[in-house]
Amino acid sequence: MATTERDYYEILGVARDADEAEIKRAFRRLARELHPDVSEAPDAEQRFRELAEAYEVLSDSERRATYDRFGHAGLRRGGFEPTVADFGSVSDLFAAFFGDDLFTGRTRRADGASRGGDVQAVVEIDLEDALTGVALSVPVEVALPCERCDGRGAAPGTGLRTCTSCNGAGVLRRVSRNVFGQFVQQRTCPECRGAGQVLTSPCESCGGEGRLAGTRTLEIEVPPGVEDGQRIRVRGGGHAGVRGGASGDAFVVLRVRPDPRFVRDGDDLHTAVRIPMTDAALGTTLRVPTLGGELELEIPPGTQPGDLRVVRGQGMPSLHTGRRGDLYVRLDVAIPRTLTDEQRELVRRLAASIDPDAYRADDEEGDGFLGRLRRALR
Ligand SMILES: [Zn+2]
Ligand SMILES: [Zn+2]
Repeated sequence: MATTERDYYEILGVARDADEAEIKRAFRRLARELHPDVSEAPDAEQRFRELAEAYEVLSDSERRATYDRFGHAGLRRGGFEPTVADFGSVSDLFAAFFGDDLFTGRTRRADGASRGGDVQAVVEIDLEDALTGVALSVPVEVALPCERCDGRGAAPGTGLRTCTSCNGAGVLRRVSRNVFGQFVQQRTCPECRGAGQVLTSPCESCGGEGRLAGTRTLEIEVPPGVEDGQRIRVRGGGHAGVRGGASGDAFVVLRVRPDPRFVRDGDDLHTAVRIPMTDAALGTTLRVPTLGGELELEIPPGTQPGDLRVVRGQGMPSLHTGRRGDLYVRLDVAIPRTLTDEQRELVRRLAASIDPDAYRADDEEGDGFLGRLRRALR
């Protein structure tokens, strides 16, 4: 039995004096987050079971009063068993609570039609694709409508009859009475799965489901500026519904492959370029990588190790405004690791000829690491 000892109010995140509407709102909001087709949390299923149990108690005024006075033990003494324990899969549980359709709020239809589940696919794109946006075809394995029965599940020329297990109610009830009062437990009829009607003759191709396994190709437009981990929702791109019900949605998770040349920080890009110490001293024109190609950058004489040059508008576009961020180029000054005798002599002569003042920092805080750190922290 899936009994939890966690406080029901705490699970729902509501105050002990929360009214019915608040409890319902809290439940629906949390249930959406924990839907197994949507949530990536590994414990989503367990948490949804807890949540469903908490809601089952707190949404019923008698059970809630018992729980308020006597806690979990009181409920157990009163013969309460959470409906949750009767369900094998969380999808069935969802169906019981939401008529199979948490996201659109529609309920299960009398002909047994119900919305299909959602699916998720993961695609990798390059940073360049994230810059420009890209059109993608993403195949997903889903249930597709059965062509033979047109998705209805009934063999051609046949129809529906009232379910004999539940006499068309779609639910089975069990009433129990004890010192705390009368408890009604209700669960979905397993024969008709809550529809109240069953097929007189199920379609031979799909066995009455109205759908068959297949592949759907999602055509998606990735907008410029997407970030790693963002999701695109394709309405109706998920599993076909049972017996002609609406299709679920597909969620495409975008993974942006890291580009070895750049580090992304929001809309800005960072890169580093090594320049010889002689270029740093004399100044030069550099070719630096950008996402669109290369760009010429003027390096002034006297460039210091770690100096940053900012190239405006060469970062990533903002997903919202389209305006591009900046490219930060850090200049790493390289010192030769080996010198010939002749070069060593040249450097010695150079060293002797340079006035120590020429090495001064250009402000009192210095150009070194500490100076940059101080400026950054200001
Ligand atoms: Zn069929
Ligand atoms: Zn039934």
